[in-house]
Amino acid sequence: MATPQAAAAPTGKLVIRDIGLLLSGDLRQPILDADAILCDGGRILAVGRLKDLDVGGARTVVSAKGTAVAPGLIDSHVHPVFGDWTPRQQQMNWIDSYLNGGVTTMISAGEVHLPGRPKDVIGVKALAITAQRAFDAFRPGGVKVLAGAPVIEKGMVESDFKELAQAGVKLLGEVGLGGVKTGEEAKAMVGWARKYGIQSTIHTGGPSIPGSGLIDKDVVLEADADVIGHINGGHTALPLDQIRALCEQCARSIEIVHNGNEAAALYALRTARELNQLERVILGTDSPAGSGVQPLGILRMIAMLSALGEVPAELAFCFATGNTARQRKLDSGIIEPGRAADFVIMDRAQHTAGKDLLDSVRKGDIPGVSMVIIDGQVRVGRSRNTPPAETVAEVMG
Ligand SMILES: [Zn+2]
Repeated sequence: MATPQAAAAPTGKLVIRDIGLLLSGDLRQPILDADAILCDGGRILAVGRLKDLDVGGARTVVSAKGTAVAPGLIDSHVHPVFGDWTPRQQQMNWIDSYLNGGVTTMISAGEVHLPGRPKDVIGVKALAITAQRAFDAFRPGGVKVLAGAPVIEKGMVESDFKELAQAGVKLLGEVGLGGVKTGEEAKAMVGWARKYGIQSTIHTGGPSIPGSGLIDKDVVLEADADVIGHINGGHTALPLDQIRALCEQCARSIEIVHNGNEAAALYALRTARELNQLERVILGTDSPAGSGVQPLGILRMIAMLSALGEVPAELAFCFATGNTARQRKLDSGIIEPGRAADFVIMDRAQHTAGKDLLDSVRKGDIPGVSMVIIDGQVRVGRSRNTPPAETVAEVMG
């Protein structure tokens, strides 16, 4: 188990060299012509050729040994509770396990699995503020867990959202998981949240567990949350004509999750491509949930969408990095100066049929992760969860 980290550990200069393939996370230019990255204080300072960078005085030098470097993966949809524990399937250290799947940032869609979760307004607010504080101060394995995502309940008024925002809450949990289930009610609260800088997401599709309800396309469109949460269902998807309507009739993020319907996932992807709006596609696991903890869920989504959705692998990686960062207003997810120094180093898995990393992903295989770096610090070496990478990155000094 990796050591839990406080939020802002200071870091010295980091150099990543011998990069064979640099995936930018940016759909417009997914592959960069560079073999080295220079970072300091947890931020990217420069990207280019090693010979052109000022790498003197580095505290840490990592050789990627000719393998691939990408921005750390972002899971746009998780349900954390407290620390590195989930009561949903009674597991410890699940976040650390996702770190081993290349995930460096997670976004809470609501701390809904807390046993006895409060549903009265003051309780909802208290839980959200507590979760925001707790995950801000405690990062399992170094993973950035953006949490404190209240699930809206009947009776909340504008001043509640103002108060939440002033207390540091920046997200709403999935609209529809609480008592507010009509478009009209949700629309007002989503609007108040937006007014105070709180981003929102909505449950889309059939009920997730007994006791929850259907949210169809009319409710999603009327509520107008920032993210069409699990457009492919979590678990049960809407009919395909409704998925098409959601893609066509609004400009919000199209979130595809591991925990949903895979046929619907591919349909949403193809619809976004037809509309020439792949920049709206973001990925999540929607875990932990009934289908469990999915440490490799984001990598599996990238491989599935690339192989079956016929998307070049270098673009599929953008769905889980730069797209999510842009839609979620994060300072990570793209390899460029000024961004957070969050990286995953990978190679093709041993014995894949793919001739290189991108070809292996395009054929549906997941890569082997050999190192994950967050805020300029090496957090794990060879992943305990992915298949072994053919060539492994090394810390040189
Ligand atoms: Zn949901």
